[in-house]
Amino acid sequence: MRLTVFGARGSIPVHGARFREFGGATTCFLIEAGDQAILIDAGTGIIAVDKEILADREISILLTHPHIDHLAGLPFFAALYEQNRSITVYGAERGGQGLGEQIDALYRPPYWPLNMTEYPADVEYQTLRYQTLSIGDIRIDPMEVPHPGGCTAYRIRRGDRTIVIATDAELPEDPRGFLRKGFDPGAFLAFLTDADLVLMDSQYTKNEYAGRQGYGHSTAERALAWKDAAGVKQMLLVHHDPGHDDAFLIAWEKEIGRTDVRFARTGAQIII
Ligand SMILES: [Zn+2]
Ligand SMILES: [Zn+2]
Repeated sequence: MRLTVFGARGSIPVHGARFREFGGATTCFLIEAGDQAILIDAGTGIIAVDKEILADREISILLTHPHIDHLAGLPFFAALYEQNRSITVYGAERGGQGLGEQIDALYRPPYWPLNMTEYPADVEYQTLRYQTLSIGDIRIDPMEVPHPGGCTAYRIRRGDRTIVIATDAELPEDPRGFLRKGFDPGAFLAFLTDADLVLMDSQYTKNEYAGRQGYGHSTAERALAWKDAAGVKQMLLVHHDPGHDDAFLIAWEKEIGRTDVRFARTGAQIII
């Protein structure tokens, strides 16, 4: 599987010279494997996923949750403008609404001129029931993680290789702690165990987190504690705070000082 980072910014896109290295586009990751192209989220990063990249692959989008930073790029996704193109979007029920209702609530007049069904491509919605999905020869297990309104983490497996993506997750400090608010740390630890690559929310520093508990995001310290407890091989830290520019993230990465843990840079590719 080849993973490309198209956007790793959280909350809102940012731009300018201070954001060149890590990028300013919001969440979008592409996994290419065989004849499949699986996108995780449709933040503004999806705008750079052009036709050449997708070629003849089948396209699926796994939506983590419908917060705007994860959906803002969808109407600009190149494949939507192709006739005879099918795009399957997967996502959980949120606030009592199925996936189609959530997306249609955002993309309709007067908020947006067109509904997703009015684009040339054929868009199909699949509301997740938290069952294992098979897309081609790829097996996908979804799991709910702590975030306001909920968020889905995905465990993506092909052959003996595993990638886990948890873009927005306020994880408890102790990976071996107890069940709280319906989140079972043991189950999440098993979900991460022995993954080759994990993309994990680490929006805040420890100091920032002190004033932002309940906002739904983790710190790098927490992401690392979970990584080490689960024997994860490589970790990319994602959902960069819009206030964290290149200089800030480079200094933070240096302070962490590990070759197996980096902040995600837009354009980075990892083959697993
Ligand atoms: Zn987010
Ligand atoms: Zn969110």
